Parts: sequence; C-alpha cells; structure tokens
Amino acid sequence: MANKSKFQAIRGTRDLLPTETGLWNHVEEIAHKVFGTFGFGEIRPPIFEPTELFARAVGGETDIVSKEMYTFSNPTGVAAMVRGERLEGTLADMLPEAEMITLRPEATASVCRAYIEHNMQQLPQPVKLYYMGPMFRRERPQKGRYRQFYQIGAEVLEVLRPETPHQFATRHPSQAAPKDAATDAEVIEMVMTFFDCLQLPGIQLNINSIGHNGPDCRRHYIGELHKELIKIKDHLGPDSQRRIGTNPLRVLDSKVESEQSYIDKLPRIADHLCPDCTAHYATLKRQLDLRGVFFKENWRLVRGLDYYMRTTFEITAKGLGSQNAVCGGGRYDGLVELLGGPPTKGIGFAIGEDRLILSLQEAGKGAAPQGRDVYIAWMGERAYATAVRAAKDLRTAGFSVELPPTELKFGKALERADKLGSRFALILGDNEVAEGSWTLKTLADGSQQKLTEPELLEFLRNCKRLSS
Ligand code: ATP
Ligand code: MG
Repeated sequence: MANKSKFQAIRGTRDLLPTETGLWNHVEEIAHKVFGTFGFGEIRPPIFEPTELFARAVGGETDIVSKEMYTFSNPTGVAAMVRGERLEGTLADMLPEAEMITLRPEATASVCRAYIEHNMQQLPQPVKLYYMGPMFRRERPQKGRYRQFYQIGAEVLEVLRPETPHQFATRHPSQAAPKDAATDAEVIEMVMTFFDCLQLPGIQLNINSIGHNGPDCRRHYIGELHKELIKIKDHLGPDSQRRIGTNPLRVLDSKVESEQSYIDKLPRIADHLCPDCTAHYATLKRQLDLRGVFFKENWRLVRGLDYYMRTTFEITAKGLGSQNAVCGGGRYDGLVELLGGPPTKGIGFAIGEDRLILSLQEAGKGAAPQGRDVYIAWMGERAYATAVRAAKDLRTAGFSVELPPTELKFGKALERADKLGSRFALILGDNEVAEGSWTLKTLADGSQQKLTEPELLEFLRNCKRLSS
C-alpha cells in the first residue's frame, strides 16, 4: 500500500519503477530490432502540437477530440516579451494571440505533419517510420487504461506521383490494390513478428475492410446501414441512438449486451464493397496466408473517419479483461492531403505498450528481478583502492557491481550482498590484496574459490555465457 504524502502521482498517471522498467526496456529494444529488420527508421516528434492538427487528423466527432484531450494555450505574447518587445496590457489581452496546443493523444497526426514539413515525399518512397513514447487522453482510469500511456507505432507513407499514371489511379480506387495490400500485409506481419519475439500470449488478429469513401462503396453501405438502424432504433441504447445520426458505422462497435442480437443482423460492408476494394481485401487475405499470419475476419471492426479506408485491424491479447486490444491499425490514404500535403497513401498501427506489458506480466514473462553480478566486500585501506579498481574493470567488462562506499565487517557485507540478490561476493581484505589472490564466494551455495584477477574475469565471463 502506498504511503500517503502531500504529493502523489496524478490520477491516471503512474511511476514505472526499476522492478518494471527492465521489461519496458526489453520490449522497446525488441521493437527497435524487429522494426529495423523491416526497414523502418525511428522518428521522435514533440509531445505537444497545435490543437488544430489533432482536431483535423483525429476528427472533431471522435471521443478523443471532443472530450479526452489536454489542451491549453501557449501565449505567443510571452515570446514577444522575452524578445524584449514592449507589450501593453494584461495577459488576457495577449491571449487572442495565443495558439491552442494539445498534449498528443496519438502520434499518427504528428508523423504525417512531419512527413509534410520535412518534404519526405522527395525521399525514396514509401517512407517507413516508427515511434514510441507517451500519449495523453483524459479517460476514466482503470486497468489497462491510463491518462498518460505509452504507444509503439509505425506508419508507411507513400506520395502519389501524378507522372506515374498507374499509381495515380490509386487515388481513386485502383489497379494498384494488390501492391497496397502487400504493404498492408507486411505491416501486419511486422507487428505479429514483434509479438512473437516477445512471446506475447494468446494474441488474436482481427481484420476487416471498410472500403473507401465513395458513392459506389462505403457511402452507399452507410446509407443502407442507416436505413436498417432507424428500424431497430428503439432496441438500442442512448449512445448507439445518438450515433445513428452522427456516425452510424460506430454503432457496430457497441459492446452493449442487449444490442448485440440486433447489430448482428445488420447489413455487412463486405457485401457492399466496390470491385477495387473487394480485390484489395482478397489480396490482403492471400498475402497474410502467404506470410503464415493467422487472422480472423470481423465485419464489425470499423474506424469512424472518412479518410480511413480498406484495411483495418485490431490485435487482442490475454490477461487484460475488457481492455484487451493491444494494437489497432489501418489504411488512411488521404490523411496527409487533409493536413495540407500532397495526395499520399498511408497505413499504420499503434500498440498500447502498457497493455502489452501487463499481458506479459500476467503470463509470468516479467523480466528477472534485477540483482547484482558481484558485490565487493572490502576491509582495509589498501583493499579499498584495489576494490575501486576491480569495480571499474568488472563494470567495463559488462558486469553489474555493487561497491559499498564505507568499510563493512565481512559478515555485514555478505548480508547486504544477499539482500541485493547478488550472485557472487568478491572478498577483498588486506591479506588477499598482498597475496594477489582474491576470494570469490558463490552466494547460492556458499562455496568459495581463490582466484587471481585475470582468472576472476575469465571465470565470470564463462558464467555469463552459460546463463545467457
Ligand atoms: P480502446 O478501444 O481500448 O479505447 P482505442 O480505439 O481508443 O482503444 P487507439 O486509439 O486505436 O485505441 O490506440 C491504439 C492502442 O493504444 C489501443 O489498442 C490500446 O492498446 C492503447 N490505448 C488506447 N488508449 C489507451 C489508454 N487510455 N491507456 C492505455 N492504453 C491505451
Ligand atoms: Mg479509446
């Protein structure tokens, strides 16, 4: 139970302590490695951006933008004051000049902004980027849901070059569907490879196609869906009823028990896709098979924004209760253009790192407790000088070493070594130093051996090799 003090971490935020950060670092290292093998480079966008960026990219109708963002004003007037310009009036007078900024609730918008800002359309296409870091959403905190949480995500962006007519056709439904579907499949394969490397238990990949925002495809489907929703309106709860008017697709997302039997009978988008979107979806499934990626189709998996198109996917894991989605992703051709860039195709995903870690911990795959390789028990002035040098040499060789700053009786020192979970205690008294023969004690069984310094290093290296 936490101690009550005047200050505590704000609700929905938490400290990640050394007992856990080992696992966090491990997860992040694997992400760097796996994403690197797929040719992705890391991007680190800022943690806050103009509010307008998220309002446009995430969408004003979404829960994220309408109620979950941390938004405040960034008074530009203060900058003028710092520059020494004379300003009259109060802070309130300066506010009209202020820009509204928001702690990022997600990072796709930032990555697209950066793609445009740094002219990445001039690089060889597609540009493959990944990121990791904290996101902020004002939600009701619960298991697997925080106000500051962490995501690991990736995006593939590819400008449409008008001079290549074959590709340009993809802006409107296309013959290039197979190529894009291969990209989608590779992105999904990458996430699944990452999860496999981590041995994340019970993962399940759900996929769907939501078509594109055309009159012969999703727009037509939404019309049909709307008609059917009106008929069953009285059987739906207030949230779903409201969504019939604002965003009918989102009704399919409903988890409300009493609505399920009605929603299950609604028309399905797969029966209303245009030929190009149908081809894209068929290719995606073939591509996933080719890569040995298992999936389940889920026609109710949707995204509520116009520029989301075709491939959508979600991955669930075990041990997370109702917050079991560890990854969400999809194709979003059109987002870069919406933010003022050139017509660009995009696909990406975001993994909830907190949930990923929770799932690993629940499965007993937490990192081993952090002990020390060697605790140096020293007594005497001359022994101390040797102990300091030995600590330096052992650390350089990659061992973790605890060197007590003050002299302790050997019994006391060994007790501490034990408490810290040390594997060995190196015993250095003035005698050992004079003889050049050091005593190494294995704490698990109490056995001791005499070693010279080079023998010690050799012995420890062998132990490490055996245990890794
Ligand atoms: P959910 O349905 O769980 O609210 P979401 O649709 O809001 O998820 P996305 O915006 O797609 O989620 O984010 C991708 C992933 O980020 C989610 O699958 C989840 O693992 C994680 N995530 C989202 N919100 C939170 C949060 N508040 N705390 C912890 N993880 C989160
Ligand atoms: Mg959410």
